[in-house]
Amino acid sequence: MNAPAEHANIARQHLIDPEICIRCNTCEEICPVDAITHDNLNYVVKFDVCNGCLACISPCPTGAIDSWRNVEKAVPYTLEEQFTWDVLPDTRELDQFEAGIVSGPAGETPAEVQQITDVATAGHGGPALAPWSASHPYINLYGPTNPVTATVTGNYRLTDADASSDIHHVVLDFGSTPFPVLEGQSIGIIPPGVDEKGKPHLLRMYSVASPREGERPHHNNLSLTVKRVTEDHEGKPARGVASSYVCDLKKGDKVQVTGPYGSTFLMPNNPGSSIMMICTGTGSAPMRAMTERRRRRMELKEGGDLILFFGARSPGELPYFGPLQKLPKDFIDINFAFSRVPGEPKMYVQDRIRERADKVFAMLMDDNAYIYICGLKGMEAGVVEAFRDICRARGADWDTLRPQLLAKGRFHIETY
Ligand SMILES: Cc1cc2nc3c(=O)[nH]c(=O)nc-3n(C[C@H](O)[C@H](O)[C@H](O)COP(=O)(O)OP(=O)(O)OC[C@H]3O[C@@H](n4cnc5c(N)ncnc54)[C@H](O)[C@@H]3O)c2cc1C
Ligand code: SF4
Ligand code: SF4
Repeated sequence: MNAPAEHANIARQHLIDPEICIRCNTCEEICPVDAITHDNLNYVVKFDVCNGCLACISPCPTGAIDSWRNVEKAVPYTLEEQFTWDVLPDTRELDQFEAGIVSGPAGETPAEVQQITDVATAGHGGPALAPWSASHPYINLYGPTNPVTATVTGNYRLTDADASSDIHHVVLDFGSTPFPVLEGQSIGIIPPGVDEKGKPHLLRMYSVASPREGERPHHNNLSLTVKRVTEDHEGKPARGVASSYVCDLKKGDKVQVTGPYGSTFLMPNNPGSSIMMICTGTGSAPMRAMTERRRRRMELKEGGDLILFFGARSPGELPYFGPLQKLPKDFIDINFAFSRVPGEPKMYVQDRIRERADKVFAMLMDDNAYIYICGLKGMEAGVVEAFRDICRARGADWDTLRPQLLAKGRFHIETY
């Protein structure tokens, strides 16, 4: 059940996470329509006043403002309710309905996938739209209760043996089971075994790194780019359950797969469309899928620019794109940013974006250019700041532009 038409009475309600909010008042000051108010406990958003302009999202120092729930239009969370909250309400069945139209004999988005996706795409401040010329994706063909069994047909390490990150290229084959995917979609992998509470492990999501016709064309397969998690987000040692499982898979092993997921982080198909790709680490997976799609169609001379900003610690830690450097410069404009090369200044993706400000601005203003950001959550703020500065220096306003990009399906974020 994914047909949005059946759910015309559903609205996305803008909320503030009371657990994270530091009550700094920034959002209330910035909101152009006075949709935000507060009492001595909470900052809250007036449902009937907020028009979703997103002006408050980026200035919020904590991200608390970037919270959304689907509600029945007639019965949103009231101000009185919001004032009493210590935590945001749990997501409900309603939150499973995605924006964007999908087709196919799909099931419902599992609640855990919806939650993970909400976090991964929070940088939009709400649901995104796919490019108008994107192919229609299939989603939710297989869920945690009816996963499909795929067979591992390849697994090799992409990063140098002495690199600090262990990133693998893994190929999964679906045999005769249909598993149609588009560039930019992801799949779920259910690690075997149980967690410390004795419950089966929850699925983890992984972006598809191959184009729609497969890693090996016409063999009903796809590839993933998986980094072994060895430390948590704070840098403390931690063993990633699913990423270790996937990185250790051997040829012939069977894997439980769900999905496909994602109906908006999709590439444009119209000839002449340009793509700006900004990624770190395994955020390169969907970028590889899109680049491969374009590479395989290169001889059709469909036009459109590809520009890539790729951040990694050092060249040895780059998954892919080493080989892609051999591609013609007029096919893809590659800008690497290395942050840990001895004797060289630290470079981050946003530094490279600033270096290419004229080109970046031209693409931001070009209705036929689409922007994709994928990788570590921490990269988002710097990239958006670079966009803001580039716009400001050229007499434009990023906060005005961003909703326009979103409305045209031109701006896509997936960070984890
Ligand atoms: C839409 C989407 C697409 C994704 N695509 C990819 C992909 O293409 N390749 C890929 O490798 N991952 C991808 N991920 C991340 C992936 O889903 C898992 O979160 C990741 O592999 C960690 O799972 P785990 O079971 O190994 O770690 P867990 O056992 O879940 O966590 C172990 C510890 O590490 C922390 N942790 C979790 N994830 C990370 C991380 N990425 N970096 C640092 N610390 C972490 C946890 O908070 C925990 O403390 C994607 C996530 C999303 C939402
Ligand atoms: S999105 Fe716009 S209208 Fe809604 S609260 Fe933020 S600034 Fe106000
Ligand atoms: S700007 Fe963010 S942290 Fe500050 S009051 Fe608003 S929601 Fe809370």
